[in-house]
Amino acid sequence: MNNRMKIFKGSKHFRLKQVAEGVFAAISVPGTGSVGNAAIIDLGDSTLVVDTFTTIEAAEDLREAATFLTESPVSYVINTHWHSDHTSGNQVFTPDAQIISTFATREIMNTFGKSRLAQQLSNPEPIYQAIAEVEKNLQQETDKKLKRELQWENASDRLYMDSLPNMAYTLPTITFDEQMSIHGRVRTVHLLTYGGGHTQSDAFVYLPEEKIAIMGDLVLSKHHPVMIHANPYEWLTILDRVELLEVEMIVPGHGKVCSMKELREVKEYINDIVKLVEDAVQSEKSIDDISVPKAYEDWYFSTYFKSNLKKIHDLIKEQSLLRTAEKAPVS
Ligand SMILES: [Zn+2]
Repeated sequence: MNNRMKIFKGSKHFRLKQVAEGVFAAISVPGTGSVGNAAIIDLGDSTLVVDTFTTIEAAEDLREAATFLTESPVSYVINTHWHSDHTSGNQVFTPDAQIISTFATREIMNTFGKSRLAQQLSNPEPIYQAIAEVEKNLQQETDKKLKRELQWENASDRLYMDSLPNMAYTLPTITFDEQMSIHGRVRTVHLLTYGGGHTQSDAFVYLPEEKIAIMGDLVLSKHHPVMIHANPYEWLTILDRVELLEVEMIVPGHGKVCSMKELREVKEYINDIVKLVEDAVQSEKSIDDISVPKAYEDWYFSTYFKSNLKKIHDLIKEQSLLRTAEKAPVS
């Protein structure tokens, strides 16, 4: 173990796990300001951070951990995708660091992401109302696991709201379309994208020597994959391609450090949930009656199961509309 890891003061927002010499996963502690995972990579004379958490405070702890562990400044930050639990802490790293994402991710941040934050800043009331609503529902919730998850979610949302007045939306400064590499003194890091699966554009970090992949939310470990902005079919194609890489260890976007086994579980989940919705549509049943399959009962993020079903249902309807339109005679 890295000696400096033993003397690092720690953070309430994440637990550090060394995955190789100079490579650290910062695994989110539920109910804190991190929400997603991050990673720290020592390049020898500079440091790269992957994803920046949800709150300014959590990101500050991350920057502190990175500079303490590597004894170098953070020169590069990569955003794997635009979701706020992976980008909200960007401002903590600028102007010293260059922030890198795909071109498409920066586009979404520059339009949708930026205006959403502006809206939250000018009118935070709806978020406070949503927090109060969940708080109310919590009191009646009898399912222990769900109750704990809702408590975590609300605790993190409250911390986000504490951070909100000080937030300045911070965009990537360098973009790439397919691949870029950073050549440090001690290692080369590849930033790759195979398109959009979890979001419109997803990037990941690949360390070929160490056989490590830092996957963002393309791979979650024992958590329901989040499909609100997903293309499940593209997602499967992307994971098929990742399987061709030599990878022994995966730092997932949420959950503990894992391996290709968990990547394959995500594929199974996507296949299973698509099939469940297709079957329901075929037999004209409501998707509201679909319950979480046994295999995924103990997975976290269970509140996303219903929205995942709805997303796939919407996509299937959209496609069948398209097909009907194609078949319609041209007048
Ligand atoms: Zn995430």
